[in-house]
Parts: sequence; structure tokens; C-alpha cells
Amino acid sequence: MVLRLSTLFLRTLREDPADAEVASHRLLVRAGYIRRAAPGIYTWLPLGIKVLAKVEAIVREEMAAIGSQEVHFPALLPREPYEASNRWTEYGEGLFRLKDRKQNDYLLAPTHEEVFTLLVKDLYSSYKDLPLSLYQIQTKYRDEARPRAGLMRGREFIMKDAYSFDIDDAGLEESYQAHRGAYFRIFERLGLEVIAVQATAGAMGGSKSEEFLHPSPVGEDTFVRSAGGYAANVEAVSTVVPQDIDFSGFPSAEVRDTPNSPTIETLVAVANGLAPRDADRGEWTAADTLKNVVLAVQLPTGERELVIIGVPGDRTVDLKRLEATLPEHLEVSGEISVEAANDEDLRKHPLLVKGYIGPGLTLEDTLLGIGGRSRLRYLVDPRVVSGSQWITGANAAGQHVFGLVAGRDFGWDGVVESVEVRSGDQAPDGSGELEIARGVEMGHVFQLGRRYAEVLDLKVLDQNGKQVVVTMGSYGVGVTRAIAAIAEKNNDDRGLIWPLAVAPAEVHVVAVGKDEAVFEAAEKITADLEAAGAEVMFDDRLKVSPGVKFGDAELIGVPIIVAVGRGLAEGVVELKDRRSGEAQNVPVDEAVARILKLREQLS
Ligand code: ATP
Ligand code: MG
Repeated sequence: MVLRLSTLFLRTLREDPADAEVASHRLLVRAGYIRRAAPGIYTWLPLGIKVLAKVEAIVREEMAAIGSQEVHFPALLPREPYEASNRWTEYGEGLFRLKDRKQNDYLLAPTHEEVFTLLVKDLYSSYKDLPLSLYQIQTKYRDEARPRAGLMRGREFIMKDAYSFDIDDAGLEESYQAHRGAYFRIFERLGLEVIAVQATAGAMGGSKSEEFLHPSPVGEDTFVRSAGGYAANVEAVSTVVPQDIDFSGFPSAEVRDTPNSPTIETLVAVANGLAPRDADRGEWTAADTLKNVVLAVQLPTGERELVIIGVPGDRTVDLKRLEATLPEHLEVSGEISVEAANDEDLRKHPLLVKGYIGPGLTLEDTLLGIGGRSRLRYLVDPRVVSGSQWITGANAAGQHVFGLVAGRDFGWDGVVESVEVRSGDQAPDGSGELEIARGVEMGHVFQLGRRYAEVLDLKVLDQNGKQVVVTMGSYGVGVTRAIAAIAEKNNDDRGLIWPLAVAPAEVHVVAVGKDEAVFEAAEKITADLEAAGAEVMFDDRLKVSPGVKFGDAELIGVPIIVAVGRGLAEGVVELKDRRSGEAQNVPVDEAVARILKLREQLS
């Protein structure tokens, strides 16, 4: 079906939408692909539907290629399965909850692990039925705190979510690898470079997990890579831990007056004024100090718990990273949020003297090494190894302890990755220095293991007639986010430049001017292209100026633009590659063949 601009439901906009910060958002709205309906919620217009259908078709083909079968769940689901997995609560404010007329609880599903598990439980009962992979392309709902960048982070969005079911761990590993492979092929066909980085599993639970990040300056995920091939989400990077130090000969710790030294900077200055470090190691630096940061953790239950984290003074705590690593230490499952403790939190603990906090609640505690006995949980950075020496708060205004030895003078409840990863830090696998980059999460693969199968009782009979719990994987691709990422990567100051594989049409024929012969010739080229199997958009608008038509063509971003106009008198039409901008006049009677050839080159 030719897309005729004379009738296509489309109004391109000259102005950028006021709320659009990134190119993809701006251009998808201006070129008439989507319209905002509410924050983070978009209406799809005919052009948008075309692109969406193409992306979905690629996803479907690659899922079919690994033997995954498509199903379709409701988006509106009852509370019970999510209650059983505890996600009704764990999902916190991100979940859209609602009630039916009988006051029963429902939700708009943010992801569908529970109901896939139950569906398989409903119908399957034997190891002979496995392995199995099912998927859907489904609208998901998440009440994101900060919907942004149009389709990049919506509150309603489309995800392809797949789930694998296996009898044992080896089977799961095989399914995981198959889905992982399909993802690389999907993103390759979409023209999106992706890097699979190790990730933390977050609210999903389970063990092994990788995120597919597309490097992009507009991405919200920070990841690191090394020249030697290591790549990981910062949340998942583990610090290269220094060796323990033998502290047997170390002098005892000493409390010193350090007036007006509540910050690391002032402390370092005061320390250097007081007692030079020693000749061969130069001056005291921030890295010699132990900064004890009091943080307030909002637990999934709604409770607020204070924890203290001891980190080298030259490092800052990365709250997002901590939100990923801390739940394990607090023995909670689900999403937590972490923020700096406020004055009210601190008032409840008068022994915490702001600016002079030590590893213990009192100086006595600090010197005794009270970690485990403190009323607040005390965790440390992995660099705080046994035998490391620190300058740290003495729990009294204007006083610090010097030479406080970890493992001798103080202990801790646990070791936690909490500080920002910096470029120049070492990769945990020894593959060199890390470099920081930004990316958009395009997909995510998880080995869920038996978490959902266990709580929802998905068991099958094994070869020996014994009931065993099924092991599962879960695999998501952000379909609408992929469209945003493609648009973000493929544009210039005049508009979008779609890759052929996902363009709303392959060729955009523009009839320029008012001449009847021009319209006839354009009409014929359009018909011939269509007959040859090309997807054509035809600007057949009669009373629209050439400038507006060309402007629209460049904004809409179909990869091949054919202008039929004045040149027709000399028997030529103009053939243009939207991306390179290269234009050439070709004889009218060769036009179709040349267009098809260019299409082939672009695919
Ligand atoms: P993010 O960290 O970006 O919030 P997530 O880790 O919560 O994503 P998953 O639960 O892993 O997301 O969902 C699978 C995929 O769905 C993601 O990799 C992403 O491509 C897509 N996705 C997730 N949230 C959104 C959203 N709010 N808008 C658009 N796509 C999304
Ligand atoms: Mg994810």
C-alpha cells in the first residue's frame, strides 16, 4: 500500500515540542510519528505504527529462529500472583495498582514473570515438555519517577518479554545463550551497536544477568569498559581488593585535636599542618582518610534504616550503585532507595557528630573496634582491608583519630561496593584500566533460576518420576525504546534518517510543482516501484510548495528520496540518498531500476 501524503493522517511540525530534550524525542514528534498523551505516555500515529511493525517483525523473526513461541497476556492482571512473588509490594511506587468494581486489586503489569510461570504450570507437567520458550510483545506499565526523552523512558511502553523453562541448570544455560544470541542478531538488524555487560539482577531476583547497552550520550546507564574487553554496568563492577597488611608493628592509634575540620578537604589541610605523614610517602591526601557516611535506606516495607558506610575520603558514595548492592547486606529482597541521612535522622543518634563520625558510635567504640556491636550497621568499602591505616572521625567535634588500623582498632558488619567507579580504576579481570561510558539499556537477559517456579509451585516430573522445580530465564527487549535509540542515532539537523530495515517506507517519491506531466510520471514511478515490491511513500499533495515537500521528506527520513519535477522536461528525475545527501539525475526510464539498486545497496 502506497502511503499518499495527500491523505495520510499526518501534520509535521515546524517547532520543537517544548518538553523535548533529545533529538529522537523532538524529531519523532515533529515528523509525526508519535504524540504525547500524558507524561511518558504516547499515541502512535500512522508513520509510527509502520516503524513499530517493522521492529516487531524483526523481533518476531529472531525469536522464531530460536524456537520461541508467541503468546499474548493481558496487561491488566489480578494481584494474587504478584502477591505470591512479593512483587505487589516490592515494586513500590513503580506499579500502577487499581481496583475493579468489587474492590478487588489489579495491576497494570510492569513485567510478566508470574503469569508466564502460572501458564506453564497450568498446561505442562513433565520433563518431556521442556525446554520451552515463550514470548510476547506487550504494553508494559511502570510509573517511572522520571519519564524522559519521549519513548526512551515511558510510563507506558512496549517490551518483548520472553521466558524460558528448563528442567536443570545446564538447560537454563543453553536457553540463556540462545536468547542472548537472538538479542545480538535483533540489535544488529536494527543497526544498534550493543555491548552485553554484566549486571545486577535488581527486583527480578535470580543470579546471572547481562544488560545490552547501546553506547549513547543520552543514555542513563553508566558502564565501564577496558581495552582488554571487560565491560560491565558500574553497579556490577567489583573493586580490585588490595592485600591485607600485617599490622603487628604498627603504632597505636592516637586522637588529635583537628579544629574546624568537618570536611575531607579541611581535614587533609589540618592533618598536614599537624603531623607530616612521613618523608617517603609525601603529604596526607584524601585517600588516607576514612569518611564515614550516614545513609538512610528506605526499605520495601516502608521502614527507614540508617547505615554507616566507611569509604576512602577521596571517593564519593554512588547511591545508585548502593541501591543495587545493599539489599543483599540488609537481607531484603526488592527495591530500596538510599539517600543521605537528614538532620532529623541524625538527631535521633546524638552520638553521631556531623563531620567527625568514626567507625563506631563513640570514640570508645571506635577504638574498641565495635563494628558488630554498633547499633547502626557499619559497612566498609573493599579498600578498607585488614591492616589499612586511616585518619578518621573521633566522634567529637574538632577531633580525629590518626593511625586507626582496620581489623585491629575497628571492625565492620560487612564489605559493600558503594563508591563511584572512576576511569583509571582497574578492571576486575585484570584486563587493564577502566574507561567510563554512557549507554541506553536496550535489553536484559536473566537467569532467574527457581525463584518464581518455587513460590508459584511450577514443578514437573523428571525421568525418575520425581517432582522437580523448573528453572527459568527471563529476557526483555525494549521495543519502543529501540525506536527511540534508532532515531537518536540516525538524524541530522533536518530530520530523521531511518535505516532501510525499519523505515516507514523505503522510497519517498516527491512530485514537485503543479505540472500534470510531473504528477503522471511520479504516479507511474510509484506504481512501478510498488509492483517491484518496494514500499513507497508518495508526496502527491497538489497545493504544497516544493520547499515544504522537501522539508517534510527530510524530516520524515525515508532513506531514498526521488524528486520528479522540472528535470522531467529533459527526461530526468533526481535520486537522493537521504543519509549521504548525494543526489544524481537519472533518466526517467531507468529510474525504477536505479532506485531498486540503491535500495539493495542500503539493505
Ligand atoms: P531501566 O534500568 O532503563 O529502568 P529496567 O532494567 O527497569 O530498565 P527491565 O525490567 O530489564 O528494565 O526491562 C527490559 C527492557 O525494557 C529494558 O532493557 C528496556 O529496554 C525496556 N524498558 C524498561 N523500562 C522502560 C521504560 N520505562 N520505557 C521504555 N523502555 C523500557
Ligand atoms: Mg534491566
